[in-house]
Amino acid sequence: MALIVHKYGGTSMGSTDRIRNVAKRVAKWARAGHQMVVVPSAMSGETNRLLGLAKELAPSGSSAALNRELDMIASTGEQVSVGLLAIALQAEGVEAVSYTGWQVPLNTDSSYTKARIESIEDSRVRADLAAGKVVVIAGFQGVDDEMNITTLGRGGSDTSAVAIAAAMKADECLIYTDVDGVYTTDPRIVPDARRLHTISFEEMLEMASLGSKILQIRSVEFAGKYRVPLRVLSSFTPWDIDINEEAKSGTLISFEEDEKMEQAVVSGIAFNRDEAKVTLLGVPDKPGIAFQILGPVAEANIDIDVIIQNVSQEGKTDFSFTVHRNDFARTMELLENVVGPATQAAKVQGDPKICKVSIVGIGMRSHVGVASKMFRALSEEGINIQMISTSEIKTSVVIDEKYMELAVRALHKAFDLDKNPA
Ligand code: ADP
Ligand code: ASP
Ligand code: MG
Repeated sequence: MALIVHKYGGTSMGSTDRIRNVAKRVAKWARAGHQMVVVPSAMSGETNRLLGLAKELAPSGSSAALNRELDMIASTGEQVSVGLLAIALQAEGVEAVSYTGWQVPLNTDSSYTKARIESIEDSRVRADLAAGKVVVIAGFQGVDDEMNITTLGRGGSDTSAVAIAAAMKADECLIYTDVDGVYTTDPRIVPDARRLHTISFEEMLEMASLGSKILQIRSVEFAGKYRVPLRVLSSFTPWDIDINEEAKSGTLISFEEDEKMEQAVVSGIAFNRDEAKVTLLGVPDKPGIAFQILGPVAEANIDIDVIIQNVSQEGKTDFSFTVHRNDFARTMELLENVVGPATQAAKVQGDPKICKVSIVGIGMRSHVGVASKMFRALSEEGINIQMISTSEIKTSVVIDEKYMELAVRALHKAFDLDKNPA
């Protein structure tokens, strides 16, 4: 008997028929003798619908007070899902009970809309499991010290599931979704993308942090920190397939450094259209300038991604960086009102129509010429590179958003990702 956490995404929970299917699959695992904790997302489209209602009443602006209410609203999507799934399980003859985040409780900080999990109190859940029940816990949500409901950022149910698996020392966390694993890139953009049987934890972490939406980055961080055995697999296989076959399907996130992986130099391509570029032209080139520009942005809790500063001419330089598109307006405001005057920057320019495309692979550590191959493939398509950033196992470029799909396809081909590795 093992303790297993299953997570089902929005599409997998998208209708009562699909929820019934999820219940049948979970019932199969429970009947095989496993203790089951199930973490569903809201039904597909529901979180957007709920946040859309809020937007009708508050079309612009962002404040902690508004964000608190957004979490109050958005969390109801998952609350409906857990109730429905528990009912569907009971209808299958399985004892099941549902909990919201605050009922568990799953404690977070108070950063509404992007809260971080601090601790999980598992005694209630353990008591239910010991009594033979399947426990269904709402993904994406928690509660802060003041009993305010919080949410964990879009795609946050992945993180709920992995964090619960980590806290409860589960034997495995299975992330069921609408694709049958992690692919070399999003199969919606490149139809001949290939499923990976395993992906190293480091590569998965990069892919997620660079925008691949298959797993929320924080879920991968949790998996790494607590060594949670993690697998991504399809919820669309017939629910009654052999459980051993199912347990080996999909993509395993591997922690084994020396395990023979599908060792291509580049394992995958990630892209992110959620970024925007901000440039300050004619900034005085003197010590402390980067801090003067970025300090207030960081203080406003805005994440900064790619940064470049050019070689200065006559004591002036240009400084560009990217932020999440949701933070673009606020960043421009900050720069114009605070940073601009303080740094005597000549001009602030913004471009929200950019995207970031990245190649990822642990093989890049031991190979040279990978980045130049990337730049050649992009130049052959006439795509101009605006910014470049690299780390040991990735190279990212910022380009015009309109070339994103073209760039991803060209790179997928240039690195032979459609072919099985030798
Ligand atoms: P869920 O609702 O189950 O959480 P998501 O929509 O969040 O599902 O994530 C699954 C989607 O991620 C897939 O439908 C696919 O389009 C997209 N995706 C992006 N990058 C990849 C990748 N490298 N491999 C597989 N799917 C990917
Ligand atoms: N329902 C939330 C979202 O749409 C969380 C999730 O699906 O993981 O972002
Ligand atoms: Mg998701």
